[in-house]
Amino acid sequence: MRTDTSWEHQVTIDTPVDLERLRAMMASSAASMVVPFVDLRAAYETQKTEIDDAIATVLRETDFVLGAAIEEFEAAFAAYCGVDHAVGVDSGFSALELSLRANGVSDGDEVITPANTFVATVGAIDILDARPVLVDVRPDTYTLDPECVEAAITPATRAIVPVHLYGQPVDMVAINEIAEAHGLIVIEDACQAHGACYRGARAGSFGDAAAFSFYPAKNLGALGDGGMVVTNDGDVASQIRKLRNLGSATKYVHEIKGFNRRLDTLHAAVLSVKLARLDADNAARRRTAWLYNELLRDVPVRTPATRPDAEHVYHLYVVQVEERERLREHLAETGVATGIHYPVPIHQQPAYHALGRVGTRFPVTDHCASRILSLPIYPGIPDAAVAYTAAQITDFYSG
Ligand SMILES: *Cc1c(COP(=O)(O)O)cnc(C)c1O
Repeated sequence: MRTDTSWEHQVTIDTPVDLERLRAMMASSAASMVVPFVDLRAAYETQKTEIDDAIATVLRETDFVLGAAIEEFEAAFAAYCGVDHAVGVDSGFSALELSLRANGVSDGDEVITPANTFVATVGAIDILDARPVLVDVRPDTYTLDPECVEAAITPATRAIVPVHLYGQPVDMVAINEIAEAHGLIVIEDACQAHGACYRGARAGSFGDAAAFSFYPAKNLGALGDGGMVVTNDGDVASQIRKLRNLGSATKYVHEIKGFNRRLDTLHAAVLSVKLARLDADNAARRRTAWLYNELLRDVPVRTPATRPDAEHVYHLYVVQVEERERLREHLAETGVATGIHYPVPIHQQPAYHALGRVGTRFPVTDHCASRILSLPIYPGIPDAAVAYTAAQITDFYSG
């Protein structure tokens, strides 16, 4: 099942790049630059008129809660993902939690998920009093290892939550085969993978349901918190519509106990505008990843591996390096902001200590935690900033 070998440098990009010009830029980038990790203002400026109009419309209509823009955005996002239903909620965390709940996951159920993920994946399982069962990830893609999933299944296992981490889809054929063989539910955590594809279909269209986050810095980001559940199951969708709205489908009739977890109309209106640019933004991210891959070829930096059957959307561009802390300091001193996703694995967090049960080990996750480094990437990052960043890394390893 393992194919750890030659997945690197396989990013395909739509437009040709003048690499010679870039290498020249890199060689001459003596002047200092400030390279932010992300630039949300650039995204706003690109669509300022449409975003301002969308906000003005919501202000005029004053339908701030469950307004018309919600259904419009839900329909557009469902169509974009190639699924039948989408339900807007207040965060990616809620999208995960309500997806699990609506699929019947509850106390005592074991839910298998990767040790290498954002804490919200595990938090959403834990809050149901279900038991997150952490498993290790593949050393090449950092995503859920199907062999580890298989090995973690017990009679109490109820669901699998694969995470399309950094924007790259998990091997969903393998995960769905395991789920089918054992009668398990699959909830995709697609919070970093808006628009990513796997074997020709979108992330979010493979599981019983999938969760998206519209946290501002995600590939599709709102003006604050927001999220979405997508599913082909009409019953699950209508259950989540109730759960997000105090258990009610008809005003003042509360069929079930619920929460207040609605997506705000304002966010939906802005997200509809931004959805139109998502493919272009993802193409821009892929182009930046391609540039980094090329410019970092001759330095001791492990660039991200990409599955040949997937289209990565590079929510993050994560490399593996030795001497990470020193490199990070060098980059900070030369004006380049970087991140680590994530510096402390879940089982080493104070809140989730109990999940690192005696005898469980996550060698890949632990190994990566001290070596991974996320480089600046966002739609609109100038080529010169990418060349400058690559030049600083090259300097560090040759100096
Ligand atoms: C962002 C994120 C979430 C949570 O989304 P919020 O909207 O911040 O609640 C969950 N899982 C992953 C992998 C994420 O990156």
